[in-house]
This record gives sequence, C-alpha cells and structure tokens, in this order.
Amino acid sequence: EESLASIEKNKGLNAYISVLTERAMQKAKESDERRAQGKTLGALDGIPVAIKDNLCLEGSRTTAASKILENFVAPYTATAVEKFEAQGAVIVGKTNMDEFAMGSSNESSYFGAVENPVAKDRVPGGSSGGSAVAVATGTVPVALGSDTGGSIRQPAACTGIVGLKPTYGRVSRYGLIAYASSLDQIGPLSTNVQDAATVLSAICGQDIHDNTTSQRPTEDFGRKIGESLKGKVIGVPKEYFAEGLDAGCKSAIENVLKKAEAEGAVLKEISMPNISYAVASYYIIATAEASSNLSRFDGVRYTYRSKEAKNLYDLYAMSRSEAFGKEVQRRIMLGSYVLSSGFFDAYYVQAQKVRRLISDDFTKAFESCDVIASPVMPGLPLKRGTNESDPMAMYLSDIYTVSLNLAGLPGISVPCGKSEDLPVNIQWIGKPYAEADLLSIAAAGE
Ligand code: GLN
Repeated sequence: EESLASIEKNKGLNAYISVLTERAMQKAKESDERRAQGKTLGALDGIPVAIKDNLCLEGSRTTAASKILENFVAPYTATAVEKFEAQGAVIVGKTNMDEFAMGSSNESSYFGAVENPVAKDRVPGGSSGGSAVAVATGTVPVALGSDTGGSIRQPAACTGIVGLKPTYGRVSRYGLIAYASSLDQIGPLSTNVQDAATVLSAICGQDIHDNTTSQRPTEDFGRKIGESLKGKVIGVPKEYFAEGLDAGCKSAIENVLKKAEAEGAVLKEISMPNISYAVASYYIIATAEASSNLSRFDGVRYTYRSKEAKNLYDLYAMSRSEAFGKEVQRRIMLGSYVLSSGFFDAYYVQAQKVRRLISDDFTKAFESCDVIASPVMPGLPLKRGTNESDPMAMYLSDIYTVSLNLAGLPGISVPCGKSEDLPVNIQWIGKPYAEADLLSIAAAGE
C-alpha cells in the first residue's frame, strides 16, 4: 500500500507505464499469509518491486514503450521475472523506458519522457530510466532493467543509485523483448550494492529457454561484501581518464580510488587501446541485431496494424512506419544498411573484428588486476532534448558502458559523489562471472 501510494504521489515523473494494483495487493496478501503460517519465506518475500516494460509478465500489458505493442498482453512470463516472484517479490508496476530500449535519455518512449527527480532540466538516463526513477524516488527499493550498452548503469548514474549489469549468460533473456541479443542482459537497479547482490542471486541461473545462459549454479553474490581491499589490484585505464572526461566527474571518481588506496588496494595503470572504437563497433552490431529482431513486428501478429493498407507490402510498411518511433526507425535503417550485401564486409564484419580486439584488451588487462575502475559517462546527465537535436552526442555518451557488453563482462555503477550538485557514479568492471568479487570491491567504495 505504501509503495502504491508513493507511485501515485510521484505520478508526474512518468516512471511507470502500468501500475498493477490488484495483482500486487493479491501477491502481498499471499506473502502475508505465508508469514502468518510460518512458511519458509523467499529472499524478497513481500518486497515491492518494479520491472521494465520490456519484460514479459503473463496477463499483463508489455509494451517496450512502443506504439506497435501498445495493447500487447504477454502470454508468458520472462524467466528472470518468474524467479524474482518465486522469491516472494511483489511486482507493483512496469516501468517506462526508451522505445525498445534504444536510447540513453528516456525521451523516446511512446508514453512520454521520464523526468529526473534529481534535476528537472536533465534526463534521467536510459533506457531503463523508469526503473531508475522508480528506485530513486523510493516507490520500490529495487527494480529490474535491461542493459544492452549501458541501459542499467547509465540511468543509475543520472539518478544517483546503483545499477548492475551481470556477465552475459548469467541471467536468462527468455521473455525479454530483444534489442540486440548478443549484448542484452537483465539486471537490478537498487539503492545499495547489497540489494543488487540479493536480486542477482534471485534471478540468475541456467534456463532451458535461453541456451546462452551459463550452467554455473546460483551463488550468494553478496557473500564477499565487507572483505578488506588489502592487496586488491584496481586497474585504471589511462585512456579512460584522459581527454573528454568532465573534470568534476573525474575528481569524484579519483577520490574513491584514493580512498581505496588508503584502505590497502593497489592502483595499477593499464591500457585499453581500442576504447575509441567501442561506440562505432557497438552501434553497428546493436543496430544490425535490432533490425533483425524487430522484423517480427510486422503488423500481422500481435502488433499495431495500419488501417489504411490495401495490400500486404503496404501492411508491413505502413504499420511499421506509423507505429515505430523516429529513433527506432533510424536504427532499423542503419542496421539494415550495415547488413546489406554491399556493405556487410565494410561495416558489420569490421565491427565484429573490433569487438574481438576490445574483448582481448580486457582479457589482457585482467591478467594484472582484479577489477577495473572507470567512469560511467563522460559528463553530467545530458540536458533534456539533446537526443532530438543531436543524436550523435547521445551515442557518444555511451563510450564507457558499451565496451562491457561487447566483451560480455559484468559492471556495476555506484554513486561516488557530486559535481555541480548533480550525481556522479563510478563504474567497476569485473572478470567474467566474478560478480561476487566485483560487488565486494564496489561495496567497499560505497
Ligand atoms: N544507449 C545505448 C543504446 O541506445 C544502450 C541502450 C541499452 O543498453 N539498452 O543503444
């Protein structure tokens, strides 16, 4: 009831697309009964939570913030969501996002932009901006988002909370409306690292419905929180802290590193020579995969259908033109172009080679360090309207986050101070499947 009241109070921020009042009250009642009967409780029993609206929940509208799915009711539940509920979490609503998770500002939603409670003239980040604001305003303590190139970590940074992208393969993508399948990963947004660990432990694990999931058993990812930083080697990529990084953000991050050093950690300069190609490689691969994934939205099955079409070709073209937003159309065109026969080798194949180089840079760096420290964004949260006037500026702001998705690595975005009275987060990057170590170091810097 408290959570639902708080959602109502914060309605003006537009963080939720759907509020599941009746369903939530029923689930909460079931949790109360379990408690009263002394039954074994789940790790999140009775805790109100929110999920991004690109995650399927059986019987509930799941829109991916697009007009094309405005009235789509999911016929099944995403595995991660099912596991979340199996631990007793009570889903109170589905959160707003950039349309099909494409964006870093949460301004491309068919349901309107999400506002940043921390700064009115700034974006809340995206694409999981609704989940970030839902947590930042305290409507729920934790929410699920998805991260293809930073969509959990970046909105966490814009709103001053914690966001975790797990290792690719850690969490099942079954029931997540696909953006770029080789990059997508579901993860938590929360107010602290321990809560992120609790949620990850609840939602991870192998799934027969997603054969990219790892066989590794579920772990208690918070078990190393509280361990000393003594002797831990923190890699600091020299290219990340050079030109292009806002001075205020840089000093907030350096303060955390100095504190870690004082507690016994060793700072080691490393090099990520291919970082400058990360955004270009990402936007080729992500749009290529998106153009393929989004071809299923054809105006025939479960989607918006144009009323004007007179033949089959028109039905496809008109339904898609009328119902996909501008940013989504831009990406489908870009993705189709880089996959087209004349340009495939020049763009897509090159981008895949660069992806390998970036991944190799990380592998090499991790030979000499336990974790890598990085900014989340090159500057403060973008001013509202940047995407509209200059999409490239928005794409370029993804520089520090996309490389982890290209390499499949886990990363966590944690508040580390302020600049010009706006939140600044640090990003900690971990070795594949080493989330427990990553979270331990991230919590020590909290
Ligand atoms: N901002 C990036 C993009 O627009 C990342 C989005 C995401 O992680 N879903 O593609």
